[in-house]
Amino acid sequence: MSESQIRHDICEVCRRIWVKNMVAANDGNVSVRISENEVLITPTGVSKGFIFPDQLLKVDFQGNKISGELNQSTESKMHLRVYQRRPDIKAVVHAHPPAATGFAIAGIALDRCVLPEIVLTMGTIPLVEYGTPSTQEIPDNLEKYLPDHDAFLLENHGALTIGHDIYAAYFKMEALELYSQILLNAYQLGNINVISEEQYKKLQQVRKNLNIRGKNPGCLTCEFAALKEMKDSNQLSDPSAENLTKLIAEVIINVLKK
Ligand SMILES: [Zn+2]
Repeated sequence: MSESQIRHDICEVCRRIWVKNMVAANDGNVSVRISENEVLITPTGVSKGFIFPDQLLKVDFQGNKISGELNQSTESKMHLRVYQRRPDIKAVVHAHPPAATGFAIAGIALDRCVLPEIVLTMGTIPLVEYGTPSTQEIPDNLEKYLPDHDAFLLENHGALTIGHDIYAAYFKMEALELYSQILLNAYQLGNINVISEEQYKKLQQVRKNLNIRGKNPGCLTCEFAALKEMKDSNQLSDPSAENLTKLIAEVIINVLKK
């Protein structure tokens, strides 16, 4: 794909995150890796609703500007860390979508088996611990989640999604925000039902067949299933009833703490 097409696509995605109210004023940033050591990224100080292809910056993996008139965003560090750690990833979208960011502020990771679509496409969406903007704290905190996830909540900040191309990364952001809105509705109605163990097992098989990256969501159903599997395959050193009860109690406490 030509560089001018990629520049066009970045601006298209920028406009969509702005139109969909996922960013305000100059918030958010979008990038695409275009070679082994080069990234096209949105500059600081420009609204994503009004950005043009020739305003994008070209930077190397160390964050040195190769071309472009405007200044780099301090959030580009987060993008570069993704490209350094995940060679399979070609695009990164960062925004502050209101429902997902609400969960990031409430300190709630999206790690229950609620919607099969999300279990299949993104699995658990972790909450990355808070980091001071413009420092290496956000990339450093993100690091441990990078191998297993493609979508992240950034505590008291926003959301980050990554993909093998710009539209894959963008659609994950869209899906994450809609999922967050749906979850919020369910919270307001007072109940969140998770899918059954039997249904979850089927999803797990589909994930395996489709070779989907990422951890399975860690809801109560899944943790019981995992525990049972361990017991059935004798992985528990002492699968006595007493031992199992103790383990189940631990699992419940862990889940409630989430
Ligand atoms: Zn931000």
